[in-house]
Parts: sequence; structure tokens; C-alpha cells
Amino acid sequence: MKNVIIIRYGELSTKGKNKKDFIRLLAKNIASSLKEFDDVTIKPSFDHTYIYYQNHLNEIIDILKDISGIHSFSLGYELELDYDEIKNDITKKVLEISHNYHTFKIFVKRANKTFPYNSDYITRELASIILKNSNLKVDVHHPSLEVKIEIRMENSYLYFQTINGAGGYPLGVGGKVIMMLSGGIDSPVASYLLMKRGVNIEAVHFASPPYTNSGVILKIKDLLSVLTRYQTRIKLHVVRFTEIQDAIYSCADESYAITLMRRMMYRLASKLAKKTHSLAIASGESIGQVASQTLDSLGVINEVTNLPIIRPLITYDKEEIIKISKRIKTYDISIRPYEDCCTIFTPKNPKTKPSLEKAKYYESLFNFEELIDKAISEEEIIYLNREEI
Ligand code: ATP
Ligand code: MG
Repeated sequence: MKNVIIIRYGELSTKGKNKKDFIRLLAKNIASSLKEFDDVTIKPSFDHTYIYYQNHLNEIIDILKDISGIHSFSLGYELELDYDEIKNDITKKVLEISHNYHTFKIFVKRANKTFPYNSDYITRELASIILKNSNLKVDVHHPSLEVKIEIRMENSYLYFQTINGAGGYPLGVGGKVIMMLSGGIDSPVASYLLMKRGVNIEAVHFASPPYTNSGVILKIKDLLSVLTRYQTRIKLHVVRFTEIQDAIYSCADESYAITLMRRMMYRLASKLAKKTHSLAIASGESIGQVASQTLDSLGVINEVTNLPIIRPLITYDKEEIIKISKRIKTYDISIRPYEDCCTIFTPKNPKTKPSLEKAKYYESLFNFEELIDKAISEEEIIYLNREEI
């Protein structure tokens, strides 16, 4: 009898080759998240993935809860397919914990139709042994102990407890995006939602020293460290935005500053996406939240790139976003005071309906291509790795 955790896939019900890829990626993600435990082995299979372990069950449970692509997991034991052994092992395990419960119910699932005893027979025989040897009573409606037995092709399984997983898709299934990370509340939440759908992120932060100080970078690193709970290794690109920002302020009308800054950010992000083989750009924008996030503004901003732009929070209101950020523990870091390059020179009357022609006109007054190439060539790269427990 071996300790086992049975992993169920849920949404992974895609067929054929896709399902194989999903299972392979999920097993890889589980292995990388549990790599500090050397007594853990992982066996992926078409219906479930099995994790064998000796110790550290509570730590393992905490980690598994955050791995996307796991629908639920059960804590139990792997048994032989021999009926006498199954009977002995199950009775022994149930009697060991029976004093914690008053009533029980047995559930048998016989996926292996060649097994010589059917579910009814197994249920009745086991129930009568348990009734004879313990104080437990049967309650088929509200049992305090659920004894679940699965008879499969190679082994059988016993478990008492099932825990909900994070759901979603295994990380990596959805490819990779360049995630624009500002240090506010929204962009870390958007990152988390993407990871949960199986999308890997590479983060970019635009920094404007000396207007912004190194505290911002520390904040971004802290935010990403929290997110390594969901993606164990995250690459951060820190791109210097100062010269571009200065050029905008010296050439353009103040009311266009934000529109132009955002067009530049998307140009930089597109370059990075190409350089890193990312399939799209993502941001924490949400419809109508500020002047640059009206549909008119978003249209003028989008115009600089033909890559897909993913805005996971587009329909969320601030309350919902804050709720998620508290749950994933990025909120307290996000609300630390900081200067973002967008908050320093906030114009009094930013355009909510900027005109594309005007934006293009202001951009024609300076050589932004050159500034963009320079900023990308001087980028600083930082890796954030999940800390060992
Ligand atoms: P957040 O809470 O994420 O800062 P916000 O509501 O403050 O968002 P904006 O400052 O308008 O909104 O920024 C919208 C989005 O643009 C951010 O969510 C982020 O994706 C991106 N962004 C803004 N500033 C930066 C920056 N300095 N570096 C990288 N991305 C940025
Ligand atoms: Mg911001």
C-alpha cells in the first residue's frame, strides 16, 4: 500500500494530441513545483496523474492548490488489484480513523470491468466488515466519513478526502505573452488570470529614472516573486523610458502625453514580443477606468501594433480586481506608494477621445524609432525564481 495523491484534470477534456500535450505539461509543472521534495515521484496517465510521496503532505497540498490545470485531487492509497488484499487494506485504514467519525458510506467505482467482483458486492462485503469491527453506522445521505474506492486496470485506490484545485489549463499550454507590469493593482491580477488559463508571461516594466526611483523595481520584483507561486520562473525586462518620455513632453501638447506614452509602450512591447517569440501583449487595462482606457483611446493606442493585445481585466470593476489581488496576496505590495512614469506628469486634461492624426503628427516631431531601439538594446533582464520552501 503506497501513499498517493490522485490528480484529476477537469477542463482538460480536449481530445487527442492536445490532451497528451496538456497532460505532459501538467506533469512537468507539478514536477517543477515539487522539485524540493526528493521522495516524490509523478506518474502521468490518460485519466489521472498520480503523485507518490513519503512526507511533507501539508506542504505538497498547499502547492498543488495553486497549480493551474488541476481540477481536484484526492489524498489516498494505492493498493494491489487482489481482492483479499483490497479488503484487508481498506478495513485496516478505515478502522485506523474510525474513532473520528460516527457514520460512513462506501462508494465503489469499477473502471476495470474485468475485475471479478462488482461494485455492489464489494460495497456490501466491506460495509459488513466495518460495521462488525467499529462503532460506525451506515448513513447513505449524510455520512461523516466517505470511503471511496476505485478499481482501475493496474491498481485500485482508496481515498477519503478530495480537495478542489485551481482549475484552468496547465501553464504553457497557451503559449507566452509579454505582460506590461506597472506596479499598480491591476497588472499583477491580469498576470495571474493569464497564468490560470495556461499562458506563460514574460514581464516588462518601463522605468523612468531619475523621475522614478529604484523602489519601483523592488516593488515589481516583489510582485513577481508572489506570482512565482503560479509560474515558478519569471523573466522581467526593465526598459528605460526616460528619453522617450522627455521627447514626448518637449514635442507634444500635454493633453496628448498619456496617449503618446502608451503608444510608445506598445511599440516597445511589440519589439520585445518579437525578440522573445511571444505571441501577444497583455496589460491590466480595464474599460473606462481612466482617460487612456476609453474605447477611443484604446483604438488609437492599439494602432501601433498588429499583435493581439490581451486585456484580461477589460470588463472588471475595481472592486473585483482588488478582491482578487487580496486573495493572491499582491494587494499589499501594489498599494505601497510609488511613482510610475504615468503618474509623474499626469496632465490636467488627458484626452478621452484622442485623434489618430494628431498623435501621428506629434510623433513626427522626433525620431522615436531610434529611441525605441536604444531602449530595447539597453534593457536589463532579471529572473525571479520561486523560493524553495
Ligand atoms: P495598474 O494598477 O496595473 O498600474 P492602472 O489602472 O494604474 O493599472 P495605467 O497606469 O493606465 O492603469 O496602466 C494601464 C496598464 O498599462 C497597466 O495595467 C500596465 O499593464 C501598463 N503599464 C502602465 N504603466 C506601465 C509601466 N511603467 N511599465 C509597464 N507597464 C505599464
Ligand atoms: Mg498604473
